[in-house]
Amino acid sequence: MKILFISAEVFPFAKRGGLADVVGSLPKDLAKLGHDVRVVMPAYNQIEQGYADGSIDIDPLPVTFDVQVDGIQTETGGFSGTLPGTDIPIYFVANQMLLGRPEIYGYPDDVYRFSFFSKASLHLMVETLDWTPDIVHAHDWHTAPAVTWLATAGKTDPKYANIKTLFTIHNLAHHGKANWHIFNYLQLHTHSLEEEAYDEVNFMARGIYHANKVNTVSPTYAREIMTQTGGTGLDGLLRYKGADVSGILNGLDTEVWDPSTDKNLKARYSVKKLAPRKKNKAHLQAKLGLAVNPDVPLLAMISRLDYQKGLDLMGEVVYRLLEGECGPVQIALLGSGQPEYEMMFRQFARRYPDKISAEFAYRADLAPLIYGGSDMFLMPSLFEPCGLGQLIAMRYGSIPIVRATGGLADTVIENETGFVFDEYSTNSFWLTVQKATYIYNTDKKQWKTVQTNGMKQDFSWSQSASQYERLYQSIAG
Ligand code: ADP
Repeated sequence: MKILFISAEVFPFAKRGGLADVVGSLPKDLAKLGHDVRVVMPAYNQIEQGYADGSIDIDPLPVTFDVQVDGIQTETGGFSGTLPGTDIPIYFVANQMLLGRPEIYGYPDDVYRFSFFSKASLHLMVETLDWTPDIVHAHDWHTAPAVTWLATAGKTDPKYANIKTLFTIHNLAHHGKANWHIFNYLQLHTHSLEEEAYDEVNFMARGIYHANKVNTVSPTYAREIMTQTGGTGLDGLLRYKGADVSGILNGLDTEVWDPSTDKNLKARYSVKKLAPRKKNKAHLQAKLGLAVNPDVPLLAMISRLDYQKGLDLMGEVVYRLLEGECGPVQIALLGSGQPEYEMMFRQFARRYPDKISAEFAYRADLAPLIYGGSDMFLMPSLFEPCGLGQLIAMRYGSIPIVRATGGLADTVIENETGFVFDEYSTNSFWLTVQKATYIYNTDKKQWKTVQTNGMKQDFSWSQSASQYERLYQSIAG
């Protein structure tokens, strides 16, 4: 099958979260199954700069093309390359004004930027490159305009009329809203949805409504979003789509995330040869300004600092840990996001500088060392579509402490590969952290069993890629 991935993020070119990892890795396994997979993403500032200074190996497309938005032809350029280590083609839609910006998201005109990108991606592939996919696989609200356009205006154009769509929800919390003018911009006609207020367009709802099939990134999250608690107002629409909504667990790029080859580690190790892992802990402690001590439990968190990630439970638990209620501990935080959470950790770091290190940045080089040097990995999420942090942590031998929600419930097994609590409360989280540190301090044998159980789990894409293949087949008919 010819499958086109359209996404705002693709690892390693532009990453904000798990979306990038998925789109950067799933195509590889689909290609192994024999499919013709291609990827399109925007040419953000750093992509164009990377081309200019030679750090990103891509070529400008020999032609420009005109995309019709808002009734005018907008001249658009592009680049082409391959996903690193593969021959899977990736294309970058270039438009200085809309896409050539330093950040991926966060601009007031984001809905316009991604509407333009979505329409331009289809135009680029089908008309400029003369490659018509059987399936457009769109990801999150940013590329839902492509789904909506194909289901409306696209149906009247024979070049596009037969293209089928899969819409994957990576995070239902972000909707992508604009006013009705966005449909003039995209040059399509449709009716309003019950989920939309007067004069409002909600692209998450549109993607769900207009796609041939919808999936999300874990079976548990697929069930949760059909309920009022997890549905962010779209549960009715999702229930209406019913059997066309499914959950497929994300895999991990096991070549990128491999402690036996990871260059960012001080010492490489595997489940069979675990001893060198200690060196990573010592190196990490020294690097973060914590006392170098193999025996003190080192708890880590690498995350966007967003309420979704359970940050509201962290304050009391971290405070009690730092006050010594579980004996000596060390804490390493890597993440950035909502200012109030950064402030909270900044204050902890000021008050307990020898026990906690907090770095408020995106550090692709430091993250592997934290996974490979810490003892426990905290993910007390309020909701979690799939979560990659816990998968990487298990693979790197840092035992996850998670709340049983979404993909966390599907991937971490209580007392076997990690420690799991149900209720979203400080008390439940605290009791579980207490239990984990107690086992760490008193029962090295059990600790190692849980740790190595996690390291042995198969989190590769192979199974999930076959599930996606079956889903594409059911759509293509
Ligand atoms: P989400 O997609 O909701 O952010 P996931 O757990 O699915 O959460 O994916 C997060 C990914 O981003 C993981 O690979 C994690 O290691 C990485 N990550 C998050 N914050 C940082 C950071 N500050 N520095 C480096 N990597 C980070």
